[in-house]
Amino acid sequence: MAKRKKASKDPAEQWLLLQRRIVRCKKCPRLIAHCKAIAVKKRKAYADQKYWGKPVKNFGDGRAGLLVMGLAPGAHGANRTGRMFTGDRSGDWLYRAMHKAGFASQPESIDREDGLELINAVVSNVCLCAPPDNKPSREEVANCQPFLEQTVSQVQPKVVVALGRLAWMEILRLAKELNWFDGSEEKPPKFCHGAEFRFSNGVWILASYHPSQQNTFTGRLTEKMFDSVFSRAKKLIK
Ligand code: SF4
Repeated sequence: MAKRKKASKDPAEQWLLLQRRIVRCKKCPRLIAHCKAIAVKKRKAYADQKYWGKPVKNFGDGRAGLLVMGLAPGAHGANRTGRMFTGDRSGDWLYRAMHKAGFASQPESIDREDGLELINAVVSNVCLCAPPDNKPSREEVANCQPFLEQTVSQVQPKVVVALGRLAWMEILRLAKELNWFDGSEEKPPKFCHGAEFRFSNGVWILASYHPSQQNTFTGRLTEKMFDSVFSRAKKLIK
């Protein structure tokens, strides 16, 4: 009988394996079809580019103090470039703020070859495939939960910044599963920009409105509001 290969205990190798599993995942047929369809149809401005068109892996090197959790890859952003929050307006907002707080090597995120590196940070989404209308179904979010759990377990963040209500709810749900509550702490607050909560294991979750155009164009989220979340994260990690 062939010997089964032993699972590697090397964290760097585990991290790479997780990213490979993400990119190969086909658990949600609707989303896989949608990512591919966008990659064929393309936006006029990117007609000469080859779209990524599949699940988008986490951005960052594994163990990190900060984990930024968004909703899902943008159709013509991460689904085009193949890197989280890269190539669209949400990404411009995110990496500008992260750079200002010292979590990113530069404020621009254009494509996978632009030289951007994260500093003590990982960027991910609760749904790793671009969904139609930016709305994954409950079942699709549930399908992606094992990846979220593995990401959190491997990153071991001190602070999670949840971009939007769904990310906030998903992290709280996962925290229950991982026994991050011991009953001694108060109940977590409801989601609103600037809300924060410390779990009994010392991990913090900070809430921010998502830097989507819907929020940034309308002034619901300003640069000042967004910056304050990342400077708070910086302070807590120190
Ligand atoms: S959303 Fe997650 S679970 Fe569904 S296909 Fe994409 S990577 Fe797989």
